[in-house]
This record gives sequence, structure tokens and C-alpha cells, in this order.
Amino acid sequence: MYAEIIAVGSELLTPDRVDTNSLYLTEQLNTLGVEVRRKSVVGDDRALLAEEVRRAVQRSEIVILSGGLGPTEDDVTRDAVADALGRQLIFSAELLEALTARFARLNRKMADNNKRQTFLLEGAEALPNARGTAPGQWLETDSAVVMLLPGPPHELKAIFADDCLPRLAKRLPPQAIRTRFLRVAGMGESDLDQMISPIYKPYANPMTTILAGAGDIQIHLRARGSNAAEAEALLDEVAPRIEELLGERVYSRDGASLETVVGRMLRARGATVSVAESCTGGLLGERITNVAGSSDYFVGGFLAYTDRLKVNLLGVEAGMLALHTSVSEETAKAMAAGARARTGSTYAIAVTGEAGPESATGAPVGTVIVGMAGPDGDPHAERYTLFGDRNGIRARAAQWALDYFRRRM
Ligand code: ATP
Ligand code: MG
Repeated sequence: MYAEIIAVGSELLTPDRVDTNSLYLTEQLNTLGVEVRRKSVVGDDRALLAEEVRRAVQRSEIVILSGGLGPTEDDVTRDAVADALGRQLIFSAELLEALTARFARLNRKMADNNKRQTFLLEGAEALPNARGTAPGQWLETDSAVVMLLPGPPHELKAIFADDCLPRLAKRLPPQAIRTRFLRVAGMGESDLDQMISPIYKPYANPMTTILAGAGDIQIHLRARGSNAAEAEALLDEVAPRIEELLGERVYSRDGASLETVVGRMLRARGATVSVAESCTGGLLGERITNVAGSSDYFVGGFLAYTDRLKVNLLGVEAGMLALHTSVSEETAKAMAAGARARTGSTYAIAVTGEAGPESATGAPVGTVIVGMAGPDGDPHAERYTLFGDRNGIRARAAQWALDYFRRRM
């Protein structure tokens, strides 16, 4: 069964307000196994809204409207739905009584236009609103259930949870949605998609979506079944094949961030880490300390931007720097070794590179070297070519450094 949400209000078409009601509604509908297949935002325009409703009831079995139930002329939801469905608005003495009582209780005089809120769509039931003046409405047509809910989020949530959810649950065939969530580092979005699309493309259920930002890729799989076991079985058909193909590039299956995963690994080993940063200017330390409790394993680090500080703070040899430049495997390894020796941490991670827009060392912009030192063997390093503007390269450099560390630890 599919649902559609229409958020009504001209303010939602300005840069100042965003429709959050539909996020709440989607979350709630999903718990019943109902997928939202379309959302729209329509200004306070009766004709446009009527047109949207007319289409919505043809497309979807559940149509939820939010907003535009206020008392003023620009609140057009009732009228628009009446137009769309060819139904009258019928005065309800009961609603008027409730509204009058509410105003009396609050010791306020009721304005004349509040009476607009006492009209119900022909055949609709009123959904009482304990927190505001506009009652919701529940209407069943031949093909759809239509709900009209007030725009203020606390009113909408209360009415939906108290009245709509139980009514919907009664009407719905049993259905369950289950999701899997993989996070991947160390590769670009298009490379990843090329790799895994042959696996997920043939399936509409589960539905696979890929979200990417600064070297962090999230793969969401959503399956629908008549019960939880059936949905899980559908996921089991697809997700393990994706995981196998991506191998160690998958760093989390529970939504945990890369820094959280790295933190868990360090904690499990009883190990500590320090950082030596050049081109990331502190971003790596920022990422690691994003995690509450990171003081258990993060000892601190060095922000050694110039060659002089790499020598003075980290003990990198000046002659070696002059020979290989600061953007070299040799320097990254020496930075990591220096940080480890000076802090006494179990591991150290170093990052150096060219974030652009100009190159200081002659290495192409986007060249980033990650170095690592640890208790086993010599320090080691890896060279990457990263894309993006200056900030994009810096963010990716921190991501690649964390991921290199994760894989090598
Ligand atoms: P009221 O009886 O309060 O006039 P209404 O149904 O007419 O109810 P609106 O006037 O559309 O509601 O909106 C009232 C408030 O709720 C406004 O602050 C508005 O920004 C907020 N609001 C409306 N729609 C949404 C939405 N989709 N998401 C988040 N907030 C919303
Ligand atoms: Mg409004």
C-alpha cells in the first residue's frame, strides 16, 4: 500500500521554512509497512491544491494533507479537498459547540472566521485536536483514505498518533519494512555503483539507494514483505552479495561513523593513537574526537604545517625533507614515527598533501600521503590522488587517513 503526503502552506515555499511534518509522517507510516511514494509542497492556492489532491487520490491509497486548516481566508485545504472530490462542506453543530467551549475555557472571544473550522467534508469524521482549534478530518473514498491534519507539528503529531495510526493499522494488510545499512570508505561513488549495480539493479524490492559525500558512501537497502521474516529474507538475497564484493571497504553495518568504528577497534585492543597533521589542519583530530569517550584512546597530536615545525615538533630530518619534499611517503612515515615516539601512543597517523589551489611542492593538487606507525614493523605510507576543491580534498584526506588506519590496524 502506498501513501502520498501533501504539505500545504506558502511559507513552506520560502527559504525560511521547511516541511518537517512529512518526515514524521513517513517515519510513522513506515512502521506500518506503508511506503511513501510521493511528497509535494503546495502554496495556499485553492485551485493548485485541488488539482494536486485530485491526482493524489488516483495514484495512492493513502493521502495525507498537512496544514491550511486555520481560520483565515488563506487556509484553503478544506475547500480544495471539497473541490477535488466533489463533496460539500457541511456545518457541524457539534464542532461549533466544541470550539465555542474551547474559547470559553481559554477566556477568549471567538472570531467569526473560526467558524470556518466547523465545516466537515461530506462523509468525513472529525479528528479532535486537543492542542489547537482546527480538528483533523478522516475521509474514506472509494479508492483512498484522505486525512486532513493541521500544520503545527505538535498538533499534527498528536492527532496522527492518537487517531490516524490505529485507524490505519486496522485497515492495512500485514506488512513489514526492514532495512540494511552499509557504510563504505576508500572509493568513489561512481566506481562503487559500477561495481555493485549488477547485483541490486534487478531488484525493485529490496530497493537500494546510494548516498555519498566526501569519500563516505552509504548504501541503504529497504525490503517490504508481509512480515518481518519475509522482508529479512529479501534483504539476505541481496545484501550479503554486495558486502562480499566490497570486502574490507565496508566499514560499518550498523550506521556507525568511521571514527566510531576506529575508536571501537582501538578500545578492543587497549591501544592508543596520536596524529600528525599537515594539509588537514586538525580535521583528523576533529574527526577522532567527535566520538564521546575518545579520550580513552586518543592521546592528542601535532599540527605541523610548515617544514620547520615538522622538524621541530616531530623530529623529521631536515635533509630528508629537502630531498623528498613534505609531500612524500618518506615524510609521512617520519611524521607518524615522530608523533608515536613523542607521545608514547601505540599507533600514530600522519597526513600530508597538496590541498590546492596551488601546489607548494610540485606534487599535483590532490596528492595526499597517509603515514602510519605502530608497534609491529616499520612505519608505512600510501599515496592517494583525491578530487575536489580545497575543502573537499582536505575532508577526503581526513577520511582516507582514518580508513587507511582502520584497514592497516
Ligand atoms: P492553524 O490552526 O494553526 O492555523 P494550520 O493547519 O492552518 O493550523 P498552518 O497555518 O499551515 O497550519 O501552519 C501553522 C504552523 O505550522 C506554522 O508555523 C507553520 O510553519 C507550521 N507548519 C505548517 N506546515 C508544516 C510542515 N509541513 N512542516 C513543519 N511545520 C509546518
Ligand atoms: Mg498555512
